Amino acid sequence: MNFLELQGLSKRFDDFTAVSECSLSIAKGEFVCLLGPSGCGKTTTLQMVAGFVPPSSGRILLDGRDITAVKPDKRGLGIVFQSYALFPHMTVADNVAFGLEMRGVAASERRRRVGETLELVHLEALTDRYPRELSGGQRQRVAMARALVIQPPVLLLDEPMGALDAKLREEMQIELRALQHRVGITTIMVTHDQAEAMTLADRVVLMNQGRIEQVGRPFDMYEQPNGRFSSTFLGKANVFTGQAQGGTVSVDGHRLPCADLAATGRVDYIVRPEKVEITREQALVRGRISARVFLGNHWLFQVDTPLGPMQITHANTGLPQAGESDEVGLIWSGEHARVVPIGAAA
Ligand code: ATP
Repeated sequence: MNFLELQGLSKRFDDFTAVSECSLSIAKGEFVCLLGPSGCGKTTTLQMVAGFVPPSSGRILLDGRDITAVKPDKRGLGIVFQSYALFPHMTVADNVAFGLEMRGVAASERRRRVGETLELVHLEALTDRYPRELSGGQRQRVAMARALVIQPPVLLLDEPMGALDAKLREEMQIELRALQHRVGITTIMVTHDQAEAMTLADRVVLMNQGRIEQVGRPFDMYEQPNGRFSSTFLGKANVFTGQAQGGTVSVDGHRLPCADLAATGRVDYIVRPEKVEITREQALVRGRISARVFLGNHWLFQVDTPLGPMQITHANTGLPQAGESDEVGLIWSGEHARVVPIGAAA
């Protein structure tokens, strides 16, 4: 059963539509990431769920109850924003206890719950420290504890790791996922970072210009993007516009392979860089390597072809690779191509 439901949610600021007709069903315990480029409406959507921004139209249901008009503090949701300002003059324990105090929870119960929650985020040894005595990652965990201690039905996270450096951010992502699994709390997180969304989310909700472009599990969305935008925002992709007819796709006179082609007419033909092989044998297209970059675990090639520039990635096997200016052939299997009628994404 759906625990949290957004039904046709829209937000207009004067004549600008920031969020348009967003519908989404989230199951209890699910971790959903709202992913998309800057300004696509992620934060506005989250703020509507939190209750800070009233929708222009649409409804929000929590456990079957319409909460669209309920005030933020009465929704009882846990919220962590990027600027998770902790109270500087309060200890870690007092920061976490604050929400319980506001709710009139008795002192002994407060102590118990604060202790439990700090253990959950592995901060039990730092209860008496002040925020200035903590690292960025520890402060982020206090913010998480502060949101979790009230045992909210839903946790809302808006770029909660935006202020952390890349390495710490990666560590915290693993930690957050483990924490979310342990607590089993329904979570919506906003991020513009595709790797973060793929690491954390059960399902990714990809947004673009106020609309939901695609919803899916990270693997499914990566393997089956529903158009040019999805394929290039989540991962890298070679995308060609062509004409589908009689089971193949023709791009500038080149017939490209595909499996089970049902579409006809104008299509986007999508193939991921790691699915393309460089070959000296019979090839689908030929081209010249214009750039080759070594990235440790893999190589990245840019190849100029009659279809346009293509990107190819190969795992580093320790063997020598083709070099810049080399003429090469490129081949890939029709199974790995994704063909999407233009205008089909929804
Ligand atoms: P970012 O990743 O940059 O935070 P976002 O996807 O979270 O972006 P939103 O903050 O939801 O985007 O904003 C969506 C659009 O709505 C933007 O164009 C923004 O300028 C606009 N917008 C947001 N809040 C308001 C407001 N109060 N008044 C007018 N326009 C607004």
